Amino acid sequence: MKADVTRALPATGRVYLVGAGPGDPELLTLRAVRLLQQAQVVVYDHLVSRAVLDFVAPTAERIYAGKRRNEHTMRQENINALLVKLALEGKQVVRLKGGDPFIFGRGGEELQALAKHGVAFEVVPGVTAASGVASYAGIPLTHRDYAQSCIFVTGHLKDGTADLDWPSLIRLHQTVVIYMGLGGLAEICRQMMAHGAAPELPIAMVQDGTIASQKVITGTLSNMPERVAQAGLIAPCLTIIGEVVKLHDALAWFKPAIAFTPQ
Ligand code: SAH
Repeated sequence: MKADVTRALPATGRVYLVGAGPGDPELLTLRAVRLLQQAQVVVYDHLVSRAVLDFVAPTAERIYAGKRRNEHTMRQENINALLVKLALEGKQVVRLKGGDPFIFGRGGEELQALAKHGVAFEVVPGVTAASGVASYAGIPLTHRDYAQSCIFVTGHLKDGTADLDWPSLIRLHQTVVIYMGLGGLAEICRQMMAHGAAPELPIAMVQDGTIASQKVITGTLSNMPERVAQAGLIAPCLTIIGEVVKLHDALAWFKPAIAFTPQ
C-alpha cells in the first residue's frame, strides 16, 4: 500500500477497538489493516483468524485474551484493566475482535472502562458474522419473496434455560440470525415450534464461515438438531432461520475446498 498507510498516530496512548471480520482476511477494512500494521500492542480474541493475525506488524506485542464458551482465558474485568494500563503507558493498542466489535462483542463494555479512565479510543467496525457468513453461504438475509426483516439474537442460553423473546422470533417474513446458538440449538428449535413456528421452517447452521473449513448444514426446525449432531459441527457456528435458507442450494458460490485463504 502507499504512503498513507503510515498516517501519523497520536503521541499519547490510545485504544483502537477493531473488528476483524468473520475470518477471511480479505474482509478486513482498510482502516483495520492500517492499524494492525502500526500497532504497538494487539490484544486479540479467540475468534480472530490466524490469517488476520498475519497482518499484525512483526514488531507488535501480541496478547491473547481468549474467551471460548466455558473457558475464559482472561476475565472481562482483567481485559478492561489491561487495555487501560497499556494506553496509560502511552501505547498504541489495537483491541482486535472477531466480526464487528459492537455486535455481541462486549466492545461497549470495554469502551466504558476506557472512558471512565479518560483513555482516548476509536472504533473500527468490521463485517459481522451475520453478513459475512450469510454471504459466503449464499443465503441473502432479506429477499422480497421471503423476508422483509432480519433479527440478530444471541442463543447463549443462561443455565440452559430459554430467556429469548420467542414470539418475536417466530414472525413471518423475517429471518432470524442466532449468534452462539450451537449449544442451545435443540432448545431453540423446540421453543420456536412450541410458540407456533412451522416444523418445516428452513434452518441453516454454518461452521467456520468465510474460511476454508466452512461447512453448511441445512434442515428444518424439526430435524436440524439431529442433523447437526450427526455432522459433528463445532463452534463457531452461525444459525440462520427462515425461508431465505431455501436459496442456499442455488446461490452457494463459495467453494471452501479451493479457497486460497490459509487458516
Ligand atoms: N462480534 C462478533 C460476534 C461474536 S459472538 C461478530 O460481529 O461477528 C461469537 C459468535 O459469532 C459465534 O458463536 C458464532 O455464532 C458467530 N461467528 C463468528 N464468526 C463466525 C464464523 N466465521 N462462522 C460462523 N459463525 C461465526
